[in-house]
Amino acid sequence: MNQDSGMYQDLDRLLVTRQKIREKVQELGRRITEDYQGKEPVLVCILKGACVFFADLIREIDLPLSLDFMAISSYGSATKTSGVVRILKDLDQTILGKDVIIVEDIVDSGVTLNYLKQILRQRGAATLKIAALLDKPARRKIPDLKVDYVCFDIPDAFVVGYGLDYDQRYRNLPDIGVLSPAIYEKP
Ligand code: 5GP
Repeated sequence: MNQDSGMYQDLDRLLVTRQKIREKVQELGRRITEDYQGKEPVLVCILKGACVFFADLIREIDLPLSLDFMAISSYGSATKTSGVVRILKDLDQTILGKDVIIVEDIVDSGVTLNYLKQILRQRGAATLKIAALLDKPARRKIPDLKVDYVCFDIPDAFVVGYGLDYDQRYRNLPDIGVLSPAIYEKP
């Protein structure tokens, strides 16, 4: 998709280009490959936002691994977190004794990941790490939350693209951009 597409008109500005994303995802894949030598991790995709990042990342990891998927409620169609986290789809496999990597699109307040980490720890994962495409450190409400792998730190702005949506749209943009406030401030 080129940047003349109509969806790009709804962006205030481009934040991370597809080339930059590609480089960082490759680098992260190499790091995970090194860190998990001799292991067979379970990568858990947090639907739906992480799906594009997840599909690219797993192909950059040169290890035997398995995949699982979880869906949780976070934002609905607003742009502010409610703090309420609900499991809409749970894992299919047991993670007891497994090396688990949670793959998330973006860490904002950290409420969602903090909750997920607690749940998966209770289920007996041997190790539990977080890989996030984006991090907004300025917005963190859980200061102790450790995000083990991050591709990009970004400023406090609402972003879409590369899996991230506003009201279910823009997930298919190949780049990441700041959504124009006019779009979500519409009556
Ligand atoms: P947290 O619990 O860390 O506040 O929120 C994490 C979730 O909020 C993310 O998984 C994502 O669904 C949503 N979120 C946070 N910031 C943004 C953003 O800038 N753009 C989009 N599309 N979603 C966001």
